[in-house]
Amino acid sequence: MSVSTAAADQSACRDTSGALPVLGRDVLVPLVTGGEVTYAALDYAASAPALQRVWDDVAAYAPYYGSVHRGAGYLSQLSTELFENARHAVAEFLGCRDGDQVVFTRSTTDSLNLLAAALPAECEVFVFETEHHASLLPWREARVTYLDAPHTPEEAVRALERALADRDPYGLALVCVTGASNVTGELWPVRELAAAAHSHGARIVLDAAQLAPHHPVSVRELDVDWVAFSGHKLYAPFGSGVLAGRGDWLQDAEPYLAGGGASRKVARRADGGVDVEWHTTAARHEAGSPNVIGAYAIASACKALTEAGFDTLVAREQQLVSAVRAGLAEVPEVRVLSLFGDDAPRVGVLSFVVDGWNSSHFAAALSAEYGIGVRDGLFCAHPLVRTLLGTEPQTQGECGAPEAAPGEKSLNAIRVSFGAGT
Ligand code: PLP
Repeated sequence: MSVSTAAADQSACRDTSGALPVLGRDVLVPLVTGGEVTYAALDYAASAPALQRVWDDVAAYAPYYGSVHRGAGYLSQLSTELFENARHAVAEFLGCRDGDQVVFTRSTTDSLNLLAAALPAECEVFVFETEHHASLLPWREARVTYLDAPHTPEEAVRALERALADRDPYGLALVCVTGASNVTGELWPVRELAAAAHSHGARIVLDAAQLAPHHPVSVRELDVDWVAFSGHKLYAPFGSGVLAGRGDWLQDAEPYLAGGGASRKVARRADGGVDVEWHTTAARHEAGSPNVIGAYAIASACKALTEAGFDTLVAREQQLVSAVRAGLAEVPEVRVLSLFGDDAPRVGVLSFVVDGWNSSHFAAALSAEYGIGVRDGLFCAHPLVRTLLGTEPQTQGECGAPEAAPGEKSLNAIRVSFGAGT
């Protein structure tokens, strides 16, 4: 088998018009290849390169940053203003409703753990087994129903309807669902799942880690109660994320972290203890000195994507998805992984296995020999990847899966992912 046959429709891939400028192209090309061929960093689903515009904004602000909400000086005032403006920019990007809160977190994982920590007592949780571990695992302290992998979007909605119909209609419930799979890139029927959740008195949180970089996400239009995403997948640097949505459960809960910034008033009690009055705004869950540069970077990315226009970005990305699909289809040993069927709509994320190849070796060869950086493994979605591959849990390391003989099932997969900068 020749790997070069998977190079797809070369003209579509080489035409970078319409791609937003990202960091790294000028550095990586000569570093990896001596400047002769283009290095393709196709692991956006893990972390996307920062947009040049985001980097420029951050660099312009960096000499002036100061502590947020804590100083009378100019730098502190400026930083506080930029931090709060960033909150507004994110709220606008997400089409938030009146009363929604935007909490800055460290990542999607952090956002979903925050919401899990804020669940009211007795709240049941419903989640498909196909979720990324960040949305599968945080709820384990609650009563969780794990739903089997559906094979169509319609089946997903029906399965949720059935599960919700069986629960106590007066109890509290939360559904957690991802908008676009980090394994297959397939889009989930978020609006329909939200309608199903609400019709049964449940709430819904959208894991938009893979959706937000590729599609407009509107809390209002999708009618979801919360949305979570990460800066480093949305073309901003590491270390910042967002949980946005309804304020009530968040404000009734204990602060996610206890400390300065979350508290409005702290006083010793006569009995020697300490009384605390917590904020009832997003600050309640942002104790400690916030990551102002991270928040600023996320806001900059939100604005850059909005200004570029999702219509344009989606059109270009779908051209690349088609080119990659066509290239992979030329190689008979390749099987593209899909839950909802080959023609299901998907973002720029595709996973595949190559018959007879250990996916880790294949991915290493793509990097070393062809300058193509992809990801191999189970992508922090072990149940989903095993369902797609039809394999059992392995006792050895997740990435160091043994070599599959020709015709045998691969134990892990290869993922290629791209987006606005590709
Ligand atoms: N949800 C999905 C669908 C993801 O793909 C990822 C990361 O790959 C996460 C959540 C977790 O994101 P983070 O690692 O930024 O917390």
